[in-house]
Amino acid sequence: MANICLVEDEQKVSAFICKGLEEHGYKLKVAKDGAAAKGLLQTADFDLLILDVMLPDINGIELCRQIRLNDTKTPILMLTALDQVQNKVSGLKAGADDYLVKPFHFVELLARIEALLRRQSVNAPEDHTLIFGDLKLDTWSSVAERAGNQITLTAKEFALLELFMRHPNKVLSREYIAEQVWKIDFDTGTNFIDVYVNYLRNKIEKGFKNKLIHTVIGMGYILKNDK
Ligand code: CA
Repeated sequence: MANICLVEDEQKVSAFICKGLEEHGYKLKVAKDGAAAKGLLQTADFDLLILDVMLPDINGIELCRQIRLNDTKTPILMLTALDQVQNKVSGLKAGADDYLVKPFHFVELLARIEALLRRQSVNAPEDHTLIFGDLKLDTWSSVAERAGNQITLTAKEFALLELFMRHPNKVLSREYIAEQVWKIDFDTGTNFIDVYVNYLRNKIEKGFKNKLIHTVIGMGYILKNDK
C-alpha cells in the first residue's frame, strides 16, 4: 500500500487524517514543519505528499516549490484554508497536483488521494519496464524479450533476471541473490544459484553473440554488455 508523507503542524488535523488513511491501509509519516519534512524526504521514498499551506517555519507553497526542484514525480496534494483562495493558484503554480480546502470531509480527501495515485501509475509506464541493451522486461505482465523475441522464463528465472536488470553493471554475490530471489540465507554447500544462473544464461544468450551474465570469480555474477 502507498506510503504518504503528511506535513501538517496542527495535531488535531494530522491525527484525523492519519487515523482515516491508516484505516484504509495507507502508511503515514507526519512532519510538523518544513524542516522535518525535508528530513523525512531525504530518508524515505513516498508515493504521495500532503502539504498544509500554513506551517510554522515555511509556507507550504514555498516548500512545494523547493521539493519540486529535486522531485518532479511524486504527487503533491495541498491543504489550504477557505479564506486563502489565492493559495490554490499559487500551489498549483509551485508544482502541486491538486488542492483541498479546509475543512473537508474525509471521503473527499480519500477520493483525491486515490485519483492522484491512479494518475501517477498511469503516467509512469516506464516504471514497470526494465531495459538493458536489447533485453526488455515488463514486471507487470512478466514478459521478457531479447531483441524483440519473447523469452519464456520460469518465475524464479524471471525474478533472477529482474534482480540483475535492477542492478546492471554491479557484481551481485550469491548471498545477495539467494536473499533477494529465494528469500533465504545462502548455504555455501549448495550450487543452486549457479545452476539457475546457467538456466537463465541459456535462455537469454542462446543464439546471440554477446554474453550478458558474466561470472566474477570469487565474487558472484554481473550483468554487463560484453563488447
Ligand atoms: Ca497548519
